[in-house]
Amino acid sequence: MTKRSYNFNAGPAALPLEVLEKAQSEFVDFRESGMSIMEMSHRGAIYESVHNEAQERLLSLLGNPSGYKVLFLQGGASTQFAMIPMNFLGEGQQANYVKTGSWANKAIKEAQLIGKTHVAASSESDKYMKLPELSSLQLSEQPAYLHVTSNETIEGTQFKEFPDTGSIPLICDMSSDILSRPFDLSQFAMVYAGAQKNLGPSGVTVVLAREDMISSSPKHLPTMLRYDTHVGNNSLYNTPPSFGIYMINEVLKWIEARGGLEGVQELNRKKAELIYNEIDNSEGFYQGCVDPASRSHMNVTFRLGSEELEKAFAKASEQEGFIGLKGHRSVGGLRASIYNAVPYESCEALVNFMKQFQEQHA
Ligand SMILES: *Cc1c(COP(=O)(O)O)cnc(C)c1O
Repeated sequence: MTKRSYNFNAGPAALPLEVLEKAQSEFVDFRESGMSIMEMSHRGAIYESVHNEAQERLLSLLGNPSGYKVLFLQGGASTQFAMIPMNFLGEGQQANYVKTGSWANKAIKEAQLIGKTHVAASSESDKYMKLPELSSLQLSEQPAYLHVTSNETIEGTQFKEFPDTGSIPLICDMSSDILSRPFDLSQFAMVYAGAQKNLGPSGVTVVLAREDMISSSPKHLPTMLRYDTHVGNNSLYNTPPSFGIYMINEVLKWIEARGGLEGVQELNRKKAELIYNEIDNSEGFYQGCVDPASRSHMNVTFRLGSEELEKAFAKASEQEGFIGLKGHRSVGGLRASIYNAVPYESCEALVNFMKQFQEQHA
């Protein structure tokens, strides 16, 4: 049997084994074409059907809200940090941000290069370990949009709900929790995500946006950095990352087979509870980094009594076949990323390892 690691990588991250096996089975000869999907024209009927299927599946999983388009772009979520203000931040307006941690800060930094920004809420004074109240947002005078980060991958926080911003476009970086639970797309003007955490391999960025938001970009922008180019050409203006989009379509089928977003949410809740319970019942041996109400169901961050102990944990875990448990270099500590594709059994194995490690080191 194939050996599979207990993969807790933050991104690129675990993909469903069933999807990898399906891709393997049709890798060399896709739909009797005599070639791999990677070898065929992106203008041909076979590829285009996969492309359109993936878009339809995404919207269908979200209940087919009307007026939304799906784009498949490149350059990662990081390029969206710049494209958003380039396309939406007009003269005399301010780009509003909720400042929740590492990724929100990167998004703000890009917007500052383009125009005026404003922080509408921040958890900096809590060292980003407790999310700010979105009910008390302080928006600027002329807000172009409000940008939120649904899940801070590095700190391990996750919003449970989103603010009603009325006519002000709400834009969300969902890179690390998209499709991990149901959400109401119609609340957002735009949602985007790098694929490599919950959707597929790296190299594709999924953008879900209200068509009226993205159908007319400022005239001076370069062609590839305008949303209207991509919506007008169904994300086929240039060569799309075709293999990645095919993989996303397979991951979406896998989600459907698990009861859609409600189904995966329930599984994700069980996985997260299992690990957080172990942390909370360890009598302080393990300490959750984040305020319990702000805890992420995708990235579980925790610490041990000393950095030496954390190093020992990381090392021993690797020897036992656990991958990716070291926290991000910018914050230290430990982190278990438990995206959709991480099996419950991996989380059980981790909890057993945590018990064993505590017994040996308490
Ligand atoms: C990983 C991540 C990004 C960066 O994605 P890239 O595709 O590498 O640019 C942005 N935001 C969040 C919340 C992330 O988790």
